[in-house]
Amino acid sequence: MRKALFLGNWKMHHTILETKSYFEKFLRLLLKHNFSDRTVGIAPPFTSLFYVHSLLKETPVKLCAQNAHFEEKGPFTGEISPLMLKELEVEYVILGHSERRHLFGEGDELIQRRVEGVYRAGLVPILCVGETLNERKEGKTFERVETQLKKGLAGLKEINPERIVIAYEPVWAIGTGVNATPSQAEEVHNFIRGLLEELYDEERAKRIRILYGGSVTPENVNELMREPNIDGVLVGGASLDPEKFFKICSIN
Ligand code: PGA
Repeated sequence: MRKALFLGNWKMHHTILETKSYFEKFLRLLLKHNFSDRTVGIAPPFTSLFYVHSLLKETPVKLCAQNAHFEEKGPFTGEISPLMLKELEVEYVILGHSERRHLFGEGDELIQRRVEGVYRAGLVPILCVGETLNERKEGKTFERVETQLKKGLAGLKEINPERIVIAYEPVWAIGTGVNATPSQAEEVHNFIRGLLEELYDEERAKRIRILYGGSVTPENVNELMREPNIDGVLVGGASLDPEKFFKICSIN
């Protein structure tokens, strides 16, 4: 019922030149396979979107962005609007990533506006939620995730479940090489599914994809994806290497 989603988040990596050789390798591998049962996407830096858009045109790979503002245009120095992303046929937008929250001070209210703006513009927001190591140690994981999820979705009373994605990304697992175990992740994914049911209804909650992110590699992706409520992965470090990312995307 939920089509698996494999997304690469390049963060602030890869120049345009590097991007060119990445896609030469990645597309050569990818286009030999039939990926009709899954969706694969990549979120390059903003400066490469225009270029990557042209590279991906005739391919099934979806173009994604790493953030977006909520207005169509205006005096917002350093921001990019959903309209600008739409023009480049960007489909998915990562919002509320822990690096945005912790390094750039984005709070739940701002993230909520971004989620709503992106959704209303017709793009698919990927709302990221996740606890820090201290919060986990203090037994506050569920509380933290619940707050972030409910605040993040507060503007979307009515929802098309195919047009929203949630990513559970425990902060302690991002870029650390320590992934959540499949059962740790599944416990939170199941909790999120329950919250979505509360916010919407069972039918819609069942159709919303919940991704796991945090030190996903070709070695651990299989066991994570075996969990019933893990519908895909959001991959940082391992998506920077075309071969590794291809391995992740092509699991059975
Ligand atoms: P990582 O990053 O795979 O490098 O841990 C994940 C993310 O930040 O989405």
